[in-house]
Amino acid sequence: IYILAIESSCDDTAAAVMHNGKVLSNIVSSQKIHEEYGGVVPELASRAHQQNIVPVVDQALKKAGVNKSQLSAIAFTRGPGLMGSLLVGTSFAKSLAYGLGIPLIDVNHMQAHILAHFIEEDDFEKPPFPFLAMTISGGHTQIVKVNSYSEMDVIGETIDDAVGEAFDKSGKLLGLGYPAGPAIDKLAKLGNPKTFKFTKPKVSGLNFSFSGLKTAILYFIQKQVKANPNFVEENLNDICASIQYTIIGILIDKLKLASKETGLKHIAIGGGVSANTGIRQALRDGEHKFGWITYIPKFEYTTDNAAMIAIVGHLKYLDGAYAEQNVMASSRLKI
Ligand code: ATP
Ligand code: FE
Repeated sequence: IYILAIESSCDDTAAAVMHNGKVLSNIVSSQKIHEEYGGVVPELASRAHQQNIVPVVDQALKKAGVNKSQLSAIAFTRGPGLMGSLLVGTSFAKSLAYGLGIPLIDVNHMQAHILAHFIEEDDFEKPPFPFLAMTISGGHTQIVKVNSYSEMDVIGETIDDAVGEAFDKSGKLLGLGYPAGPAIDKLAKLGNPKTFKFTKPKVSGLNFSFSGLKTAILYFIQKQVKANPNFVEENLNDICASIQYTIIGILIDKLKLASKETGLKHIAIGGGVSANTGIRQALRDGEHKFGWITYIPKFEYTTDNAAMIAIVGHLKYLDGAYAEQNVMASSRLKI
């Protein structure tokens, strides 16, 4: 089975070719234009997708050494994401599937962040059903009980900002550019995580909240800068380490609760923030601390990519779960 997958939900144009669950190629073209604006500008993202999609798909096929005529199906991200961005990938996938006379398969981006764990890879274990997945990304923060490839229950989620936004907005306050997650991760390694204390939000149950943390960090920095104008430059590593430590603490506390409430010990993470070194280590520590069995994705499958769309395409192909030609992109698609 050969699947060509297309991902265009936000600001990365991505295409991948998969053979029987193995990745043959996984191309991501990240749009640089948004850095200037400190965030994704939807109209510019959509236009850049239009420019990138043909070369990115060509490159994915070429790298895989696969001809269009060999393809079994075309998979694409139907949502959630930015409407203008989703429309580019959706229309492209529809025309290609129609032109080649092969099935079209729609994929939920958040399910794909989770099912990335089912990509065939040497030395990577797949989680057994049911398991817990925490999706931590630029637009989402969810704890999901994964019962099967297609049946998933969201048992907790953020009531305001996503964890990726907490990283990006804190980084913006520190002048770290966009997206700031990777920069905070890097600087945090050089700092002491216990230097500054930020109070954790009090949200009951399995839900998250990150907007209060962002405000707390803003006030803290404003106050310190008043006393010492060079406060940020002089303490950047410790500030980053402390912010990251606080965020990881929030995530791990909720995972502990979710594991206790569901009795599930197999725990996977997915989404862009799962690239973070600190959260990866904290999860591994959970193995001996709490008896967890953890699943941490390869770096290339954490931030947006089309390999994760391809694996869902592959699994749905096996089930004959095809989309109709009139399927529509859906910016608020639920898991
Ligand atoms: P969603 O998947 O919710 O639709 P998205 O697709 O925009 O959102 P992803 O590409 O999955 O998001 O993740 C992007 C986010 O991951 C950004 O907020 C970015 O700062 C964050 N991120 C990436 N690498 C790291 C890292 N090493 N540490 C912390 N955050 C990171
Ligand atoms: Fe994503």
